[in-house]
Amino acid sequence: MRKYRFIYILVLLVFFDFNLQAQNQKIDIVCIDAGHGGNKPGAVFGQYKEKDIALNVTLEFGRLIKFRFPWLKVYYTRMTDKYVYQHERADIANRNNADLFISIHVNSSKQLNTGFGTETLIYGKKTGRIEVYSNSEPDEQTIENETEDIKDEEGYEELYKSFLVKPENLFETQSVINMSNNSFEFAKIIENKFRTFVGRQSRHVKVTDKVYVLHGTNMPAVLTEIGFINNTEDRTFLITKSGQNKIAESLLEAFTEYKYLSEKGGSWAVQLMAAKNEIDMNTNTFKSISNLEVRYIKGWYKYYAGGYASENSAKAKISYYKKLGFTDAFVIKL
Ligand SMILES: [Zn+2]
Repeated sequence: MRKYRFIYILVLLVFFDFNLQAQNQKIDIVCIDAGHGGNKPGAVFGQYKEKDIALNVTLEFGRLIKFRFPWLKVYYTRMTDKYVYQHERADIANRNNADLFISIHVNSSKQLNTGFGTETLIYGKKTGRIEVYSNSEPDEQTIENETEDIKDEEGYEELYKSFLVKPENLFETQSVINMSNNSFEFAKIIENKFRTFVGRQSRHVKVTDKVYVLHGTNMPAVLTEIGFINNTEDRTFLITKSGQNKIAESLLEAFTEYKYLSEKGGSWAVQLMAAKNEIDMNTNTFKSISNLEVRYIKGWYKYYAGGYASENSAKAKISYYKKLGFTDAFVIKL
């Protein structure tokens, strides 16, 4: 029986992977949500507060996205130390037609130094079809941390009526399955980058139906816990500027990989030009390159037309970019 179940899961995973590849969904608009804020500090340890760490990482992550993908739109649910209602956070993403929603948080465990590492939450529940995504839910304490603010919001029961009463068949609808599939894909990549890019310990992807922003957003959405504030090692890393920047950089790498995957692209690019100083991209020529990517490598600003799935598909575009005026254009793998 167990074996059949395993095969069933495999088949579903293959099916879902195909589903994602087949979507060819452009990722042009992103919404980043710094958890908590204002009089809701989130997890606290001494002078250190989740809301501050989350905001720093959020702003740096957004800045990095805008640097690498200049034409991509980034929305924030908050850019300062203020509390924003949970439904408003989801609404900001929904009304701006975001293609992806990323909520950034810091975890804490019931007892000191008992939790360690990162985990990324997606919407779903442990049973039913969504079971294939993950067999674990976040710890009780994590859920408590991430759901306590909303209960103090004025008119909570009325505002969140449809969320509080969950129809049993909600998880079976195709759009929820599609979104969960993409959220799962993105969450897996995030956890993978935390592990390989920053050397964090991954607690993997977890599912929950209790966090409002994962429910209220109409696009693939994740809530990432970047470490435990009440774990000495995690905290030592997370309170430093360099630790926060590294987390933001690994989120950028995860975002880039997910964007390529979702757009059926890859890391092949046409390098258009390189310059010692940043150049003005507000010209018609640059604006005509919708897939513009910029990277700062060893003292050089490098400008690419990126996101090609293969060397050949990038090569096929070289003459086009040369005609635009990038006479030294060549193909490179990023
Ligand atoms: Zn939080």
